[in-house]
Amino acid sequence: MGRRKLVVGNWKMNGLRAQLGEVEAIGGVAAEHAGVEVGLCLPATLITAASAVSGAAFVGAQDCHMKDSGAHTGCLSATMLAEAGASWTIVGHSERRQDQGESDADVAAKALAAKAAGLKVILCVGESLDVRDAGDAEAIVSAQLLASLPEGAAADWLAIAYEPIWAIGTGRIPTMEAVEDMHKALRSALAGRIGEGKAGAMRILYGGSMNGDNAAELMAIEDVDGGLVGGASLTAAKFAPVIAAA
Ligand code: PEP
Repeated sequence: MGRRKLVVGNWKMNGLRAQLGEVEAIGGVAAEHAGVEVGLCLPATLITAASAVSGAAFVGAQDCHMKDSGAHTGCLSATMLAEAGASWTIVGHSERRQDQGESDADVAAKALAAKAAGLKVILCVGESLDVRDAGDAEAIVSAQLLASLPEGAAADWLAIAYEPIWAIGTGRIPTMEAVEDMHKALRSALAGRIGEGKAGAMRILYGGSMNGDNAAELMAIEDVDGGLVGGASLTAAKFAPVIAAA
């Protein structure tokens, strides 16, 4: 299918200028693995400075507003983030869906705003532990994906990240079989909405406690096209084996 692996670090609310050396070092690792697309979604305060040193790794944001300007105190538009140096943004991360109450419609609107500003987008979906335990994960996450999917979804500007909420930052991951089944289910849901061809080109990343020990096995799964990586992306030493595994 020819999907280039995409490995993206999500630094969340971590990182000061003192960590720009790590950004530079991760850019160096990215240059050694040119077959893999590597990026870092950073706190907005670091985007401009990081863009100057990130080399082969792109710099992205972690969220954007759905409006381009206006009375939204404390928010940042996609256009602002693009001007600061971002080329990608995450939307719909479970921490924002939970902490900021973002709905599927908000996430779709944010994705479209990002596209309009020229940003590429990683759209996150994933289930809670209750949903996983009830055996409903594939149906619920597929429905969440379709409800969050922006108009015109296509692989040249959009990637999906499947992130089970209970795996984020916990050191727990689903079985490889569960990851494989979920990614297949998501691609099939996409195919039903945008057609087989476009769905086949779309990258679907796995996220949730991915690290140097489990990345190779996860990324060897047929429909896993890379990773969205939190804790293990904060230093070049931890992130390098994940990038190498792709
Ligand atoms: C994330 O928050 O996107 C994430 C995957 O975090 P972690 O790798 O730390 O579980």
